[in-house]
Amino acid sequence: SGVFGEIEVAPRDPILGLNAAFKEDKSPKKVNLGVGAYRTEDGKPLVLPVVRKVEQKMLDLGFDKEYIPQSGLPEFQKVSPLLLFGKDSPAIKENRLACLQTLSGTGALRVGCEFVQKFLPKGTTVYVPNPTWGNHYSVIESAGLKAGKYRYLNKDTMKVDIDGLLEDVNNAPDHSVILLHVCAHNPTGVDPTKDDWKKIAEVIKKKNHLTFFDSAYQGFASGDLDKDAFSVRLFVDQGLELMAAQSYAKNFGLYGERIGAISFVCKDAKKAEAILSQVNRIIRAMYSSPPLHGARIVALTLGDDSLLSEWKKDLEGMANRIIEMRTALLEGLQKKKTPSPTKDGTWKHVVEQIGMFSFTGLDNAQVKRLIDEHHIYLTSDGRISMAGINPSNVEYIVNAIDEVVR
Ligand code: PMP
Repeated sequence: SGVFGEIEVAPRDPILGLNAAFKEDKSPKKVNLGVGAYRTEDGKPLVLPVVRKVEQKMLDLGFDKEYIPQSGLPEFQKVSPLLLFGKDSPAIKENRLACLQTLSGTGALRVGCEFVQKFLPKGTTVYVPNPTWGNHYSVIESAGLKAGKYRYLNKDTMKVDIDGLLEDVNNAPDHSVILLHVCAHNPTGVDPTKDDWKKIAEVIKKKNHLTFFDSAYQGFASGDLDKDAFSVRLFVDQGLELMAAQSYAKNFGLYGERIGAISFVCKDAKKAEAILSQVNRIIRAMYSSPPLHGARIVALTLGDDSLLSEWKKDLEGMANRIIEMRTALLEGLQKKKTPSPTKDGTWKHVVEQIGMFSFTGLDNAQVKRLIDEHHIYLTSDGRISMAGINPSNVEYIVNAIDEVVR
């Protein structure tokens, strides 16, 4: 069996496996609604105009390629928390927020879990919503932590099961870690209301839980960056200490540049300084220091008022097309009187859900037929990426859905 011993081939990652199958599909009609990545009307990846502009500026300025510190590019560390927490955040003003650059959102989650594993009591469980982004489980468990679930979606109403959620968070042992999606919940596209968030903050406070916010879609829920950060800012206003992972993959279209951040909101500046120094050591041992290119793009854009407003326009353009496609999908299905798989018998959830995804309610067998017979790729839970739908393919998608639910 050789020096490696017996090693079996690992199962395919469900989402990445879908991408591979899509690539192999030779049909000209094929549509990828699996991966959460924005596509142009020709189905091509999009580099935001503001990103192209900043990259040109970077070339002109002739930046070097030196190592950056473990904690990241200082200019980036400064602007990233402003975006999520707001420029008037008490945590920033009081210097009790430590922010480090990470390898996109996944890296932030991984570093955060590593911190929990090292510094919180043994046996601390990280609770995630059911359902959630599948990789949460792998990230939590590979840091040596246990993953638990709290109720999230009421499948009958296609709304947040707030009572179930509160009950489960309340029943988790004191001092647990509660992972919350900041906005545009993946995969359901359903977020708590403002009132729900207040109740969630209350239970978390009462139980001395540590909140771990995951922000992968800021700007994609409402199209407004500040509105989308409501939950995080509320928790800070409530005086809670917390961790927050940020990803710039979707809202900057910087998927492959792996740019993100982790922030720790602490009770005082001394604690923030200590945590920063400890997380530096964690990063040093894992990958030494993060990459430079994406950090510069984000730092230059967020740090310049005119580039910032260009970015907001680019982002709004993406968010708006997604919203338009929700309406187009709903109208198409209504016109054909396509039977809905949800309890209320309508397709209204498609427009009520927010962010990059729609949780259609289609079952496993229907999904399989969409893939095998119609070359439309989506995850087996019936989630579709709205960012892959555009005016030229929406009718084809409507017809295919109609066909598989009848
Ligand atoms: N969290 C959630 C909920 C996500 O959907 C994603 C992206 N699919 C991520 C985190 C992290 O993505 P990335 O590492 O590409 O930033």
